[in-house]
Amino acid sequence: MTNKATAGSNYLNGATGDWEVVIGLEVHAQVASKAKLFSGASTTFGAEPNSNVSLVDAAMPGMLPVINAECVAQAVRTGLGLKAQIHNRSIFDRKNYFYPDLPQGYQISQFKNPIVGEGKIEIDVDGTTKTIGIERLHLEQDAGKSIHDQHPDYSYVDLNRSGVALMEIVSRPDLRSAKEAQAYVTKLRSILRYLGTCDGDMEKGNMRADVNVSVRKPGAELGTRCEIKNVNSIRFIGQAVEYEARRQIDIIEDGGKIHQETRLFDNAKGETRAMRSKEEAHDYRYFPDPDLLPLEFSQAFVDGLKKGLPELPDEKKARFVKEFGLSAYDANVLVAEKERADYFETHLRLVAGKAEPKAVANWLINEVLGRINKEGLSLETAKVKPEANAAIIAMIANGTISGKGAKDVFAIAWDTGRAPVEIVETEGMKQVTDMGAIEKAVDAIIAANPDKVEQAKLKPSMLGWFVGQAMKQSGGKANPQQVNDMLKAKLGV
Ligand code: ADP
Ligand code: MG
Repeated sequence: MTNKATAGSNYLNGATGDWEVVIGLEVHAQVASKAKLFSGASTTFGAEPNSNVSLVDAAMPGMLPVINAECVAQAVRTGLGLKAQIHNRSIFDRKNYFYPDLPQGYQISQFKNPIVGEGKIEIDVDGTTKTIGIERLHLEQDAGKSIHDQHPDYSYVDLNRSGVALMEIVSRPDLRSAKEAQAYVTKLRSILRYLGTCDGDMEKGNMRADVNVSVRKPGAELGTRCEIKNVNSIRFIGQAVEYEARRQIDIIEDGGKIHQETRLFDNAKGETRAMRSKEEAHDYRYFPDPDLLPLEFSQAFVDGLKKGLPELPDEKKARFVKEFGLSAYDANVLVAEKERADYFETHLRLVAGKAEPKAVANWLINEVLGRINKEGLSLETAKVKPEANAAIIAMIANGTISGKGAKDVFAIAWDTGRAPVEIVETEGMKQVTDMGAIEKAVDAIIAANPDKVEQAKLKPSMLGWFVGQAMKQSGGKANPQQVNDMLKAKLGV
C-alpha cells in the first residue's frame, strides 16, 4: 500500500480523484519534575516495579492529593513557549473509568477549564512555514502499567507511573500530511526540550501521540475521524497517518462509511486496527474533583516564569538568519536541538572572525553532523573537537587548504586525534597558491595539447578538461578557482 501524493500538493490519489488528509494530534508529554503531580513519590525511570508509589498513587482510602507547584510552573512555561493564553484559574476534574492500572477508578485531568488555552506552533515543511493551531494544554495524571505478557497465567500491575504529571497538548485539525504531522511533533519536542519541561524521550514513553485522522475531498466539510492511540515514535506517526488515510479512502470509495472509533497502531505490521468504538465525553462522567480547589495563580507568577524562558528555536533561527546571514534551511538544522545551536555558537567564538559564519555552519552541518550521524555518535563524543574544527575552518577560509584538502585533514584528525595545523604541515597538504608554479603547469598543458586548445575555443566546456589536468599535475593542491581563472585568460574563452 503506497500513498502517492499529487505533485506539488499534499493530496492523495484515489480512484475518484484527489483526497485531502486532515490530522489533529493530542500529544501526551511527561512533565519534567522530580515528583508526581499530586504526591511526593519519585518519577525516576526504570525503578523496581511498584517502588515509586505513595499512598496517594495507590489510592488508599482517605489519602488526599496535593498539587505539585513545580508541575504547574512547567505547564505555564510550556504554555508561554507555545505563545498560548495562560489561564490563571483552572479546574481539575475526575475522568471516571475502570482499569486495573487505575486504582482510583478515575484519572484527575482538566476538562472544561484547562490551565492553558489557544496557542500555536510554526512548522517548516519542504521550505514553507505553516502555523498550526494549539487548542489547549491541560495537566493530568498518568496511569500505571498493566503487564500481560510476562506470565501465561497472570497479569501484573506496576504503579510507578501512576500519578506522574502529563501535559496533554491538543492541536487543531490543521495538519494535512504525514510529513506535517511529523514536523509538528518534532518541533513540539524541540520546544519542550529547550524549555526543559519534558525530556521528549519517546523511547521511554515520555512523549506519545494520539493521532486523529480523517479524509475529505478538497474543500469539503471535515470527515469523520478515527483516533489512533499512543503512537510512540515520529516514524510510526508518519506510518500511522499514511496507512489510516489510505484505509479510509478505500472504504469510502468502495461505498462504505467511516465510523468514529479508537484504533491502535501495530508497530510490527505498520497498520492500524480497531480497538473500540469512540467513547463520548459524557461516558466519563467528568466532574470537578472535590478533593482539589480550583488552581489559581497570580499574573506575577506567570511574568516571573516568562522572564526566565530561554531563547526558543524560532527566535534563535530568526537571529541566526539576521545576524549571521545563514539560509533558513541551515538555521533550521542548527536550532533543531539546543545543544547543536550552542555548538555552532561555540565554534563562532573559536573561529573568532577568521571565517564567515556561513562557512562555519556549512562545515558543521556537512562534515561534522554528517560524520556523527554516520557513526551514531553525538556532538559530545565526536572525535574532532571544536578547537580542531575551528582550525580547519580558518585554514579553508584563508586559502591554506582547499575544500577537498579540508575533508582529508578532517578524516585524519578524526582517526588519529592529531592537530589539523600539524597534519597540514607534515603531510604537505598546503594548497599551492604560488601563481608562478601554477602558471608553469598550465603553460605546459597548453603547449602539449594544441588540438584541444582549438576545440576549447569553439566549445568552452572543454575548459573543464584543462582544469582537471592542471589540478592533477599539482597533486590536487592548486586552488581550482585560480586555475580556472588563469586558463580562461590564457585560452581566451
Ligand atoms: P477527544 O478528546 O474526544 O479526542 P477533541 O475534540 O478534543 O476530542 O479532539 C481531539 C483531536 O482531534 C484534536 O487534536 C482535533 O484537532 C482533532 N480533530 C477533530 N476533528 C477532526 C477531524 N475531522 N479530522 C482529524 N482530526 C480531527
Ligand atoms: Mg482524544
